[in-house]
Amino acid sequence: MHVTLLGTIGWMPSDRRETTCFASRVGDSLFIFDAGTGLRRLREPAQAALLDGARDIHLFLTHYHLDHVCGLAYLPGVLPGRELVIHAPAAELNGVDPERAVAGLLHRPYNPRDWEELTGLRLEPVVAGANEIAGHTVRVRPQHHSDVSVAYRVDDAFVLATDTRIDPQTAEFAAGVGLLLHEAWYNAADPRTEATPAELRAGYAAHSEAGAVATLAADAGVGRLVPMHLNPLHDESYYAALEAAARAVFPHTDVLPDGAVVDTKGTI
Ligand SMILES: [Zn+2]
Ligand SMILES: [Zn+2]
Repeated sequence: MHVTLLGTIGWMPSDRRETTCFASRVGDSLFIFDAGTGLRRLREPAQAALLDGARDIHLFLTHYHLDHVCGLAYLPGVLPGRELVIHAPAAELNGVDPERAVAGLLHRPYNPRDWEELTGLRLEPVVAGANEIAGHTVRVRPQHHSDVSVAYRVDDAFVLATDTRIDPQTAEFAAGVGLLLHEAWYNAADPRTEATPAELRAGYAAHSEAGAVATLAADAGVGRLVPMHLNPLHDESYYAALEAAARAVFPHTDVLPDGAVVDTKGTI
């Protein structure tokens, strides 16, 4: 199994990186995680193989912050004529009715057509614990962010944990997977972190620090850590320093560009 990185940054896109989106072909199905601006990369020729022959397409949402859902508006252009199942967290996980939340995003005056008018889209909430989807076991657990987000584990292949504070239970959730995609919003060892204006640093409490993420990856015994949901206020040299800091703790760490394809056995 492979995961294609379609959007590796948080909050706002940069000229190199789109906001959060990942895709994986699991047999005849295409699994997409989050619908940030990176969703548009499915239109790139390099990603055609992801869609070719995909019998069904599943989009899993971690939470409803706009950097993770703005791509919902792109669906008619990115996946024309395709049916799509949206898997959003059930209300028991985050206190939010998924139907209301998704319909609220795809609704006039924010979208040219209302959710009820859109054809080919179906909502199937995911619950805490194991969900059987397209012949795969997709495990879900709630995480603490500024709101609740959820982490996903697909079989024993990979875990996606974004928009979360460091949570030791993520190590348990990710135990033994080949690939851990985990957010790394900042690097405490980098002086540029402290130079960020105080009002922006306040938001760091809802996110994860790179060294702590690496410790978590080591505790979980994953094959490879790919830090993502990088902070767009910084540049590629900051991300390189973040990677170095994480590698000092967990050597199998790679900050990768948008478009990279990662083997879930822990190799590129
Ligand atoms: Zn985000
Ligand atoms: Zn968020």
